[in-house]
Amino acid sequence: MKEKCGLFAAYSQKGSDVVPNVVMGLRALQHRGQEAWGLAIPNAKPFKRRGLVTDNLEESLPAVDSMPSRVAIGHVRYSTAGGTSLRLAQPLQIDRKFSIAHNGTICELDSLTKKISEDFTLPTNCGDTMAAGYRLLQLLQANNWDWYHSIEALAKELIGAYCFLVIDNEGKIYAFRDPKGFRPLCIGWHQRSKSYLIASESCAFGVMGAELVRDVSPGEIVCLSRSGMETKIFQRRERSAHCAFEYTYFAHPSSVIDGISVYESRKRLGMKLADLYKDVKGDVVIPVPDSARPAAMGFSERSGIPLAEGLMKDRYGRRGGLRSFIQPKIKDRVEINHWVLPVRVAVEGKNVIVIDDSIVRGTSSKTIIKTLRDAGAKSVNMFVTFPPVTSPCKAGIDFPTHKELIAYRASGKHADIKRVNELVGKEIGADSFGYNDVKSLSAGIGLDEKRLCLSCHTGDYSVLKIG
Ligand code: SF4
Repeated sequence: MKEKCGLFAAYSQKGSDVVPNVVMGLRALQHRGQEAWGLAIPNAKPFKRRGLVTDNLEESLPAVDSMPSRVAIGHVRYSTAGGTSLRLAQPLQIDRKFSIAHNGTICELDSLTKKISEDFTLPTNCGDTMAAGYRLLQLLQANNWDWYHSIEALAKELIGAYCFLVIDNEGKIYAFRDPKGFRPLCIGWHQRSKSYLIASESCAFGVMGAELVRDVSPGEIVCLSRSGMETKIFQRRERSAHCAFEYTYFAHPSSVIDGISVYESRKRLGMKLADLYKDVKGDVVIPVPDSARPAAMGFSERSGIPLAEGLMKDRYGRRGGLRSFIQPKIKDRVEINHWVLPVRVAVEGKNVIVIDDSIVRGTSSKTIIKTLRDAGAKSVNMFVTFPPVTSPCKAGIDFPTHKELIAYRASGKHADIKRVNELVGKEIGADSFGYNDVKSLSAGIGLDEKRLCLSCHTGDYSVLKIG
């Protein structure tokens, strides 16, 4: 099971109904998961629906309106194995004692499920969230329902990347982030309802007029209750391992993660590309919409080559606005790419420099290059802000096998970047092609490379404590 999702929670200190804000927060985190969504309040079965928050909202609203609560947690899901079954949509209720939602991936589940099997029978293919939930239940029962102690004990057993939200039947929320901080998690404040908020990304606060207070620190537990917010560090980190992919592609550009503006970091990454590939001749710089737009602005600003919108996403179709990378089925990814339309007048007869945030499978890049050539581009030169992805991610993003990765297929694991550029460029049909290297990536993001996870580029999983 690999999943990479969005979390949102709210607790109103003055007793206002927070459920509408949780729905709005999930809507703002939709870029993190588009397969299913759900929310949970104390002492009730979680509410879950397939698809986007806005799909069939009229049908969902009566059910959502019937569960007013001063405290709630929610989840948007993106998964691979296990499919899009509603059974695996979150939050998951654990033995009617609490509900749990998760963003990340827990590796090496066997030892965890073995311990759980002493007390509970888990369904086959139960997934990492359900396993972590039942193990937490066991620890709570063994520790007289001491939440801090039990979460601390659970964290010692978990290998992987995780942010969890738990809501109990007394109406308390517990949020905790792994000690390396792979996935983002932050705290907000909504003045009108006097609510503490917790979200995967700060973009979810802006939509409801709330403010970012701070990040949840790696290795920190946050508890929200009637008495306000309490926090405790359960493990001091040796080093952080923030996912570099969040900054280049996954997160919303308006978010601020661990003190860094995603928008600014993407712009700087484009500037770094312009420095690395300054000899390329171009008449126009265009972004692959939407996540590469700030990087293309940065490239244009640094190189002095004008920026244009040469590709437009269809915003009106049901699927046009979805993100191709996180669609589980190849057929769906191809269909979405088909609806990136060229603006002929912006590219015809020109040497086009097209900027993308990452290349994982290469499916989108090939289509985009062909689209630009068909629209009359004289040459198509592609530059990519994230270094070659040559190994699977075991920390929550879905590119599961080596053979799916174009950089690995073209050149293996540890090829020299010039050689990778040459081979990948040839495979996708670009006139010239280049990736950022690790030094430029880390400078662009604004975090030392020792504070980033780069396992999908290096193939070294020691930050996850696995080989
Ligand atoms: S392996 Fe890559 S995608 Fe996965 S967490 Fe690390 S940087 Fe992010």
